[in-house]
Amino acid sequence: MIKDSEAPYILSRNKIYCNYCPGYCCYRLKGSTLYLDATDINRIARFFCITDGEARKKYIEGKNTIKVKKDGSCIFLSDKKMRARCSIHTARPLQCQQFPYEKPCPYLEREDLLSIIQPKVAKSLK
Ligand code: SF4
Ligand code: SF4
Repeated sequence: MIKDSEAPYILSRNKIYCNYCPGYCCYRLKGSTLYLDATDINRIARFFCITDGEARKKYIEGKNTIKVKKDGSCIFLSDKKMRARCSIHTARPLQCQQFPYEKPCPYLEREDLLSIIQPKVAKSLK
């Protein structure tokens, strides 16, 4: 039986919160990096029925990360939606699939991170 005091920790570790979260981890913050490899880029390219080169040109910044919007959110994060915001969910990079790596989600457990991202989320949902 889960005690109330333990519930947030256990739920965030089990990714259940991801289903209801506006995608805090989809915002680029100082010190956070989303790395893609060639397989990730190929998966995205196939999702859009384009070549890897076209996908790199359209969606990739530098060699290996996804471009972001002005507010730092991933270009694939849909606005006007409170949850299930990744518009390439089935083709999202491996790092997005695996985060937070069987650990408690740091975004849900750190008020300093939430205080930066929550206003951006609220603005995008207006
Ligand atoms: S990993 Fe954390 S921040 Fe990302 S969607 Fe899941 S609960 Fe939200
Ligand atoms: S690809 Fe999807 S899950 Fe990954 S950062 Fe972008 S919006 Fe978030």
